[in-house]
Amino acid sequence: MSLEQTVQRSSALVADLEGLCQDLVEMDPAGSEAEAIELLAVLERSKSALSAVQAKHTAVLEQYRLNKQAAAGVPKDRWGTGLASEVGLARGDSPARGKRHLDTAHALVGCLPNTLQALEAGVIHEEHAQVVAKETSWLSVEHRRMVDERIAHRLEGVGPRTLGNMVRGEAQKLDQVTARDRQERSRSQRRVSVRPAPGGMAYISTLVPMPQAVGVLACLHKAATSRVADGDTVDPANPSGPRRTRDQLMADLLIERATGQTTAPAVAAEVQLVMTDAALFGEGQAPAWLTGHGPIPAETARDWVADPNAEIFLRRVFTRPENHQLVGMESRRRAFPDGLKRMVTLRDGVCRTPYCDAPIQQIDHITPVNNGGPTSWDNASGLCAVCNQTKEGTGWRHEGNPDHLTVITPTGHQYTTTTPPVSAQEPPDTGDPPEEHGPPDDPGDDGPPDIDPNPRFDTNNYRHHHTEITMRIAA
Ligand SMILES: [Zn+2]
Repeated sequence: MSLEQTVQRSSALVADLEGLCQDLVEMDPAGSEAEAIELLAVLERSKSALSAVQAKHTAVLEQYRLNKQAAAGVPKDRWGTGLASEVGLARGDSPARGKRHLDTAHALVGCLPNTLQALEAGVIHEEHAQVVAKETSWLSVEHRRMVDERIAHRLEGVGPRTLGNMVRGEAQKLDQVTARDRQERSRSQRRVSVRPAPGGMAYISTLVPMPQAVGVLACLHKAATSRVADGDTVDPANPSGPRRTRDQLMADLLIERATGQTTAPAVAAEVQLVMTDAALFGEGQAPAWLTGHGPIPAETARDWVADPNAEIFLRRVFTRPENHQLVGMESRRRAFPDGLKRMVTLRDGVCRTPYCDAPIQQIDHITPVNNGGPTSWDNASGLCAVCNQTKEGTGWRHEGNPDHLTVITPTGHQYTTTTPPVSAQEPPDTGDPPEEHGPPDDPGDDGPPDIDPNPRFDTNNYRHHHTEITMRIAA
């Protein structure tokens, strides 16, 4: 079949698939319970089969790219750079997930034929395939094939965790020396991270060797159990409230021991919030925005601000009335690196690449400096380190302004993202006509510093604006 015929055939198949999906979306509801269950199962198998097809095309894409780069004389250590981000963007996923898709596809097509076949047949899901690829990633191609062979008849009906243990066991049997080296290498990756949880809470995750993790849990469990036995369970944050459970005590003990404070609530902290003036000074219910994390209820934010132990810095944030995008801050240094960085971080929230979601680590010039791009609000994007690095690669380009960013990849595909509001949306203001929402300051002006350590709670100053609050909660 010629290349032209292949392309025609693939476009016809894609059109059929899109038509079929549309028919399924518009299909009448199932006529019975049994039919509904049948449909769930068959649709799930179809999703797996489509994942297998995606994996094959991902591997083909990788091969095209490597061939092209080899022919162009690109040094081997730079082959495929940025491809994971392209896969992520095409699938509506972050660069990290893009990498997982690319690694999985490479493994499935290259050395895990039985796992690929099980995915095509709908025996396993994409998640299972990712587990097999990940747990064998450190083995030689030959050993990966052997593991794939050994687990082939055991794939049906297992959950991803069981499968992970099964694959890890087989892999360790095959290559004990590398397995031990790998454990040593893994030790070097120990770290602590925080990610938000619902209800103004957050998870602290600590990656440490297994015996240490088990030890920490056992130690907290023992100490909390002994406090419960002694009746020492009063909650210092709410002495007249309910007694603490063992789970709550364990969490408090962890914080106390990690910070050296005598009680968990006494831990010093610095947080940044953005609230509307109505929510800060009145009864407004528009959620406050915890910079880098997300919304928290207005009531909770007001409680935090009312904490007599908190040292509070306020600063006006100017937003566009129709969409709450940040247009300016009360800053004299807006046009210079410190102030600019702070403003761009607040404006973009997380890495600006579509679907990325990683914390902002670098402020990037949309048009690079060596192409004449200025260091300015209009030409700045908050990016994570990976996306900033990817953008430096051949064929990558960004275009944009404070409202939008378009990422253009080496294949010429374009992905556009709209800058999010600086705080949660609130109902449109139907009262007075909106006042001027421009940046208030003139960069040449020697006005007050950008953080006022003694803010006056004059509501008139903040009307129609948001306020960024930096809180230092003293220990
Ligand atoms: Zn990113």
